[in-house]
Amino acid sequence: MRLSNYYLPTLREVPADAEIASHKLMLRAAMIRRSASGIYAYLPLGLKVIQKVEKIVREEMNRAGALEILMSAIQPKEIWEDSGRWDVYGPEMFKLEDRHGRDFCLGPTAEEYFTHLIKGEVRSYKDLPLNIYQIQNKYRDEKRPRFGINRAREFSMKDAYSFDVDQEAMKVAYEKMHQAYIRIFDRLCLDYRIVEGDSGSMGGKASNEFVALAETGEGVVVYTENGSYASTDENAKVAYVLPQAQDQKDLEKVHTPGVTTIKDLSHFLSVEEARCAKAVDLLVEGKPVLVFIPGDRELNLVKLMSFLDVPEHAIEMMDDETILSLGSHPGYTGPIGLDQDQVQVIVDKSLTQIDNLVLGANEADYHMINAAYGRDFTGQVAEDLLLVKEGDLSPEGEALLFARGVEVGHIFQLGTKYSSALNATFLDENGKEQHFWMGSYGVGVTRTVAAIIEQNYDDMGIIWPMPVAPFEAIITIVNTKKEDQNDLAFEIYRQLEEAGIEVLIDDRPERAGVKFNDRDLIGIPLRITVGKQAGGGIVEYSSRKEGENVDMAYEEALAHIIKEVKAQRK
Ligand code: ATP
Ligand code: MG
Repeated sequence: MRLSNYYLPTLREVPADAEIASHKLMLRAAMIRRSASGIYAYLPLGLKVIQKVEKIVREEMNRAGALEILMSAIQPKEIWEDSGRWDVYGPEMFKLEDRHGRDFCLGPTAEEYFTHLIKGEVRSYKDLPLNIYQIQNKYRDEKRPRFGINRAREFSMKDAYSFDVDQEAMKVAYEKMHQAYIRIFDRLCLDYRIVEGDSGSMGGKASNEFVALAETGEGVVVYTENGSYASTDENAKVAYVLPQAQDQKDLEKVHTPGVTTIKDLSHFLSVEEARCAKAVDLLVEGKPVLVFIPGDRELNLVKLMSFLDVPEHAIEMMDDETILSLGSHPGYTGPIGLDQDQVQVIVDKSLTQIDNLVLGANEADYHMINAAYGRDFTGQVAEDLLLVKEGDLSPEGEALLFARGVEVGHIFQLGTKYSSALNATFLDENGKEQHFWMGSYGVGVTRTVAAIIEQNYDDMGIIWPMPVAPFEAIITIVNTKKEDQNDLAFEIYRQLEEAGIEVLIDDRPERAGVKFNDRDLIGIPLRITVGKQAGGGIVEYSSRKEGENVDMAYEEALAHIIKEVKAQRK
């Protein structure tokens, strides 16, 4: 490809709204342009990288026996009603209505749609196992679209769905996808961890997330040095260490003027933070809920969502008016004396084992001290609502380490959740109707591109790993006015193309400095510079990663490139 014929409007300035490296670099390298919040257009260079990622994903899915299909991005409401997810997805779903008043959505995922597709057509156990997938844009009206295509509202996802006769067969299908994902992310040269995942609104039991390590990642990987445990922070079980046991004293109400934070309360009363119960005042589906946890911990919202079996959008902070209407006071809510017909009280199990608790007295400027669960208050006890923190121990007692990362893939064992909801059945060996056992498997194709950049850049630009590089080699003509430089450069170009190398030639009548900057920015792995020594057949050879320029005969540079590329293509 001649750069003079290409569309590569690179930017020198760093766009103001871009916070993380991949977002900045994708804009600067003319890979993407923003159309609206979380909505992007892909320019030639960006699209080329996406297609390379897609190709690897396709090859590995096909190798694992999955079949590619393509569904519509527009999905009818009815199939989502059968599973109950039309409401569960809530405001994250882009909804639309046609001219006849029928409701549709832009698909955020497609468990229902795929189940609906095969229902009634896949009739016999003999037609199973079946694994079908698509690579298609998905739509989610994210609360906080950010970081460019990392958390977008329109993004490309590979989604696959497996259908099997029973649980065991489902697990086999899941394991196949697990292995396929390892091959995919290895081939994409990502540094990633496989962790136990959160099933969110997908339902089902087992799930694993593939998380690319990156300091700018929104997710947290919790793991042990010896690899015995790896989880997301949302999913990690907390082995809470109780404060020291004490003799239980009598309940007492104390004056704590203006003291509302745990820190101040702990100071004011000279009581450890752990003993000062933290109240989280919420409205869940509009109804008041108070959650109590030890004061030295944070509430894990995902665990609460699964305890209450509600989606995130069903949970909001309780307003002061509601708190007052319960006979309590903002900043001083506590479980003692509240009418539990009016408010649901949830207590983290750890609190039931802590002596001499400090609780809000439901009255301005007052707290209760020396409270005990069972004696002074009760509630619905939840096994574990705590967010893991550094210093905690794994279930096996190993120290937990934290790393930030980006979720690039997610695989789920769904069981019969969707086949039951949509009543999708097949006839088993005995002629009996059975629900399909399902799995679903996602790769965030566009997000993966951003994750690769997060792991491969320097202050000059992107450093593409060969398998996803938009071009494998670039030839830069230092001065296009010089005939010998043009001639040699185009001869090298011809020979590289003939050898099947994806090569870009910078034949633009620009200053050499501009071309070198662009070359660094767009990160093409192998490079030949044709300059003053062109007459003698000498060029400069370098790689984007190492940077160092070496003079050599052009034939030698050619041979280097062909060898390098072929070695990495295997
Ligand atoms: P997250 O926790 O990051 O919101 P998710 O759990 O909602 O992701 P899944 O429903 O598992 O995501 O979707 C499968 C894959 O699609 C994810 O692993 C991720 O790579 C990608 N993905 C999800 N949401 C987005 C988004 N808003 N922008 C880009 N990619 C996304
Ligand atoms: Mg997920």
